[in-house]
Amino acid sequence: MPEQLQVLKALQTLDRERRELIQQREQLDEEQGRLQVEVDRVQAMVDSLTSAIEARQEERRELLGKLEHERGLASRAEGRLPQIKTQREYLAVLKEVDAAKKQIKELNDQVAAKDRDLEALTADKGEKDAELAALSEQTAARQAEISAVAVGLDAGLADHGRQRDSLTGRLPVALRKRYDMLLDRRNGLAVVEARDGACLGCHMHLPPQLFNRLYVAKEVQSCPHCNRLLYLAAE
Ligand SMILES: [Zn+2]
Repeated sequence: MPEQLQVLKALQTLDRERRELIQQREQLDEEQGRLQVEVDRVQAMVDSLTSAIEARQEERRELLGKLEHERGLASRAEGRLPQIKTQREYLAVLKEVDAAKKQIKELNDQVAAKDRDLEALTADKGEKDAELAALSEQTAARQAEISAVAVGLDAGLADHGRQRDSLTGRLPVALRKRYDMLLDRRNGLAVVEARDGACLGCHMHLPPQLFNRLYVAKEVQSCPHCNRLLYLAAE
């Protein structure tokens, strides 16, 4: 077998391993992305519950302000009652007191409703906080594992890169380019065996003269159908 073919075969083995390493690396990146999306999703729920709670608290503070105002009105009106001389005025002030008390009751009901809302929201947020904490912890642990594997893969890829450079350095530029192009277009299979008169890349029959040339030629031969580079398996 021509020496160039030995180099090409070794290069292809290396490149196929490299493709797998790259795929594994991409899978890790994808997984990391998915984990982050999940954390972000729960974080968004926590954030939205936090805003809802803050809004209810603000509304509750406003209600308490109004309540204080109505209580002031009621107590001032009641305070005036003992000094009142006429029946008519007395009734008018009593009406004021009643109106204020009615308002107070309504406001108290509204505050109670806010409190129930707040209680439910706080319980929800408690659950989501716990979920987020557990998920963050789990995600951090998995991300640490992923990083460790990624470091290994990156080192492997760097090593492959160096081995690749040393192999491609032994090939003429034109052949190297042909190989790279085929590797790309033929889905990672650029160098294939020729057996029983056929190319095992595309399974088409090779012209007999070409098949015979494979035994003697010093230069690399390619399949006329798929252009892949051909070698004969060692006997
Ligand atoms: Zn072929």
